[in-house]
Amino acid sequence: MKIYNTLTRKKEEFVPLKEGKVSMYVCGPTVYNLIHIGNARPMIVFDTVRRYLEHKGYDVNFVSNFTDVDDKIIKKAMEEGVTADEISKRYIAECKKDMKGMNVRPATTHPLATQEIDGMIEMIAALLAKGYAYTAKDGTVYFRTRKFKEYGKLSHKNLDDLQAGSRSLLVSGEDQKEDPLDFVLWKPKKEGEPYWKSPWCDGRPGWHIECSVMSKKYLGDEIDIHAGGEDLIFPHHENEIAQSECCNGKTFARYWMHNGFLNIDNRKMSKSLGNFFTVREISEKYDLQVLRFFMLSAHYRSPLNFSAELMEASKNGLERIVNAVENLKFLSGRAQTAELTAQEKEELATLGAYEEKFDEAMDDDFNTADAISAIFELVKYANTNGNETSSKAYLDALREKIMELSDILGLIVEKKEEMLDAEIEKLIEERQEARKAKDFSRADEIRNILLEKGILLKDTREGVKWERA
Ligand code: AMP
Ligand code: ZN
Repeated sequence: MKIYNTLTRKKEEFVPLKEGKVSMYVCGPTVYNLIHIGNARPMIVFDTVRRYLEHKGYDVNFVSNFTDVDDKIIKKAMEEGVTADEISKRYIAECKKDMKGMNVRPATTHPLATQEIDGMIEMIAALLAKGYAYTAKDGTVYFRTRKFKEYGKLSHKNLDDLQAGSRSLLVSGEDQKEDPLDFVLWKPKKEGEPYWKSPWCDGRPGWHIECSVMSKKYLGDEIDIHAGGEDLIFPHHENEIAQSECCNGKTFARYWMHNGFLNIDNRKMSKSLGNFFTVREISEKYDLQVLRFFMLSAHYRSPLNFSAELMEASKNGLERIVNAVENLKFLSGRAQTAELTAQEKEELATLGAYEEKFDEAMDDDFNTADAISAIFELVKYANTNGNETSSKAYLDALREKIMELSDILGLIVEKKEEMLDAEIEKLIEERQEARKAKDFSRADEIRNILLEKGILLKDTREGVKWERA
């Protein structure tokens, strides 16, 4: 299996540090708003990488943080007159709902920056002790960038070019730096901001240190894969490498993976440019499986332009698979014979070729576009060969193979079972009973069960009404 490594700019054979195991860290979102579909790209892409690694038999320890302390979160909190904690908790919960809709599995661990401050203070202290950091008069701690001789190795930038570029970027307060290239590890609090005590000043950590610390704590000093969007290569990932390698004396991550941008009119979709759609907005128009299919229809490193036409094409593409699965299920329910015929047995033996094609595509730096083509070929085969005269075992085997390959990409291709009216009525009755008995948690639970199945309840004077969303 080959992975394109940003560090070497080559596709390299993947060899994990420990046989059969993969440690993987993906930089997660800053939680101050609903996530946009640009943020969804790394989520879907690296969830697919994880699923494929598991399909290959690896035990994957997948860590992805939420940045829950940041200027943007604090600003939003001030605007709303609530605490930063309230903002981050709210948007973590919303983000998890979107992830569920996109069938992005929860990470093995989702650490929160605010819960890891002790580790950050420890790493900063270690960097100070080794001379890789220094404290300015106001208590700000900076990383001494030039002391790390390999700085720039990930982004392939030259220190002197960087120096020329960064001189003009100095902002007020940064004149305490020894060198314009130095970056913040810890900064003093400002009035009204959340802060933590530290040996240097009351304040909060810089953004880069959080990932170095969480990666070390949950995955160890040296990990297999570190990933994120390509805008993170510089400075975020470059700085993470500097901090971690200077502190731990080991290679931080062996493979660096970066997804390309999701663009709109060929410009990066971002909150600051205001040219974004939230995942929630898309979910009003499409099943989020369509969004997932759209993201996987391009190679993860290529730029991907968002458009209504491409979303429609993705909807049709996904439907082709879903319809084939539905049709096979329908035929299977009416099949005249149960057992495979000798010829069907022979035919099923040839299905391995589709799986091989799928694996070959995915082994080549996760070429999901070609993997989807392999699924389409299998669908075509199933549509041509599965019919009223086929045995149940044959039809089921075809359906299972399509579902198995789709599942590796995290695509749900089975129509959701609709809840029967009688089942809904029964649950509503039970909810009324629970409310009468003042068991409100059970009543809420029932409302949520129904909501998940797309059933909306309305309490009216005439009783409870319900409708399908
Ligand atoms: P942020 O919340 O801005 O730190 O972003 C969270 C993740 O989303 C990072 O891995 C970013 O690189 C990624 N990201 C943000 N915008 C885009 C975009 N337009 N296309 C692809 N990835 C993006
Ligand atoms: Zn990070």
